Amino acid sequence: MARILITSAIPYINGIKHLGNLVGSQLPADLYARYCRARGNEVMFICATDEHGTPAELAAAKAGKPVAAYCAEMHAVQSDIADRFGLSFDHFGRSSSERNKALTQYFAGQLAENGLIEEVEESQVYSHADGRFLPDRYIEGTCPNCGYDKARGDQCENCTKQLDPTDLIEPRSAISGSTDLEVRATKHLYLRQSALKDQLDAWIDSKTDWPVLTTSIAKKWLHDGDGLQDRGITRDLDWGVPVKKGTEDWPGMEGKVFYVWFDAPIEYIAGTAEWADANGLDDAAWERWWRTDKGAEDVRYVQFMGKDNVPFHTLSFPATIMGSGAPWKLVDYIKSFNYLTYDGGQFSTSQGRGVFMDQALEILPADYWRWWLLSHAPENSDAEFTWENFQASVNKDLADVLGNFASRVTKFCRSKYGEAVPGGGAYGPAEVALIADLTEKLRAYEGHMDAMDVRKAAAELRGIWVAGNEYLQAAAPWTVFKTDPDAAAAIIRLGLNLVRFYAVLSAPFIPTASADLLRAMRAEDAQWPEDVAEALSALPPEHAFDVPEVTFAKITDSDREDWAERFSGIRS
Ligand SMILES: [Zn+2]
Repeated sequence: MARILITSAIPYINGIKHLGNLVGSQLPADLYARYCRARGNEVMFICATDEHGTPAELAAAKAGKPVAAYCAEMHAVQSDIADRFGLSFDHFGRSSSERNKALTQYFAGQLAENGLIEEVEESQVYSHADGRFLPDRYIEGTCPNCGYDKARGDQCENCTKQLDPTDLIEPRSAISGSTDLEVRATKHLYLRQSALKDQLDAWIDSKTDWPVLTTSIAKKWLHDGDGLQDRGITRDLDWGVPVKKGTEDWPGMEGKVFYVWFDAPIEYIAGTAEWADANGLDDAAWERWWRTDKGAEDVRYVQFMGKDNVPFHTLSFPATIMGSGAPWKLVDYIKSFNYLTYDGGQFSTSQGRGVFMDQALEILPADYWRWWLLSHAPENSDAEFTWENFQASVNKDLADVLGNFASRVTKFCRSKYGEAVPGGGAYGPAEVALIADLTEKLRAYEGHMDAMDVRKAAAELRGIWVAGNEYLQAAAPWTVFKTDPDAAAAIIRLGLNLVRFYAVLSAPFIPTASADLLRAMRAEDAQWPEDVAEALSALPPEHAFDVPEVTFAKITDSDREDWAERFSGIRS
């Protein structure tokens, strides 16, 4: 038994996530967590909402709510949807927790003590009407380069020129529209990532088993241009973790908070502490996952994320951990994903384009989405969601192959032998060959799951389902029954055991359907199979079962057309 710590990139608080977000981190992390548990490992699977920063403040203002109340509400919404998608987090935390506050302040204090924080005086735009400093992207004005009148303080969207807010002609606040702005001096903290560049570089070099997508992004940030840059870790905002040096005040930093990218990854640790708190456990319970001096030396830590999050997780967060000088656990493996596109364009939260998690569950159960998303995961390149592909995949894989197999075997048994596993007959060469084939496929499936090759694992699992169907088709118990009911009974006995076998193997992908099938088979043993022949005799003669309800319904052409139409526009 191994101990495996799994974290999914934490979704931002402002709104419900779309399917592209889901397949880029939470869903494959859940697949892996479920698989690791099924193999008998001790797993800690942590996710959370990322709650700080200006976008949360603005979304709360738009909703007419105090930001803390808004975040609490959205956390509950995201938590409920995660639950309904079968995401099996051990804890779904909040980056605004007291635990994260204390840990973020602790790390900043450690970094300061080790000379890795620099105080920098900067000039920043202050809005009198809004009573606050404005982040660059919340200042609008006319682009000095192309004359576009809605250029932002960090970049002109029209001509893509990178800008400073002071470059804008007639600048105004994007929050209130006020032009009563003033440039003021203000002090900020910078994490001296450049001082850790060689250490980070050597660490990345040691990760020879990481996906190229992950290491190439890290290397680019380490070496392109002037190399790894120091990063600001504070902001002039009200909402966030107050800047402190450990538990001490930080002179000159009153009224400032840590920038969201600094505190968000620390929430992986804090979320584990929140898990301990929620379960009435002491600090030792979570520290044994995170402190190599307190039991975490044998933990394997795996992170899941979309490619846009790779720089933070390969460089910035490790810089925080390494720079602390304390024995905190560093990540062992980073699984990153490309993007899922939607019907010829991008999924977009800001534009409401694509299918969002709540909408998906309104039209079909989670397992339909889980299967399609995972079997089409954007691993080696971007992947595209189309309604045609979704319909074909659900109908072929889930309805025709898996669902149909379970239905045929159980219904045939009921009509000829009753609702209990029939005795009689014996396995012949066809059954021996099937067991050998399934053994080979199962070991390949395990290999892909261990390697987190999500698409390959899905293809292998489908192959395992297909092998049973082909066997059943060739063995033709409905024909054999007419002349030799005992021989047909042996075929059906194997078939019923295959239904249980499939439910066990498929659970990481489609947990609800798997649980339904296990319940229908009245299977008490859902252990991961080591020996296939043994697993296929788990349900003995006379073991009673129920014919499962329709496991997967087919998507009709008219459903597909309706949904394509319904989701063609923009979510309001
Ligand atoms: Zn421009």
